Amino acid sequence: MIEQTLSIIKPDGVKRNLIGKITGRFEQEGLHIAAMKMKWLSTKEAEGFYAVHKNRPFFRELVDFMTSGPVILTVLEGENAIGRNRDIMGATDPAKAQPGSIRREFARSIGENTVHGSDSPETARQEVAYFFSEIERVNQHL
Ligand code: ADP
Ligand code: MG
Repeated sequence: MIEQTLSIIKPDGVKRNLIGKITGRFEQEGLHIAAMKMKWLSTKEAEGFYAVHKNRPFFRELVDFMTSGPVILTVLEGENAIGRNRDIMGATDPAKAQPGSIRREFARSIGENTVHGSDSPETARQEVAYFFSEIERVNQHL
């Protein structure tokens, strides 16, 4: 099934000049960029995006990190895009991520782990809609 999913290059990835390398990985793997923008998230935006984690001990640290600089928001599109993006990213903890995955290659810690990816069809729909309007996410160039 053709799916859309939300990818975020987190502030550590943007600061370390990894936008091209990470986006290149998605393209190499055959995922299409349906929409893309750079944005410096406000505290409220980051809190809303990660609301599911609001009772976790790392929530404040996560929001502070995600608002520490601009991020790249991308809508990836393709066959099984949600699961394929999760595979390309690797596990949350870079030490446990598969060799060759983005997190294994680039992430420095479980918190500053370089990329985000939606984890299910339901969260993908919600997360894409959180940052992109209907017209922005309709793929008009593929
Ligand atoms: P994923 O991003 O792989 O879906 P989660 O949804 O569990 O992982 O967590 C969301 C984000 O919260 C992670 O990507 C990471 O930035 C941060 N995080 C998760 N667990 C921890 C932790 N134990 N300590 C610090 N930050 C964490
Ligand atoms: Mg998650």
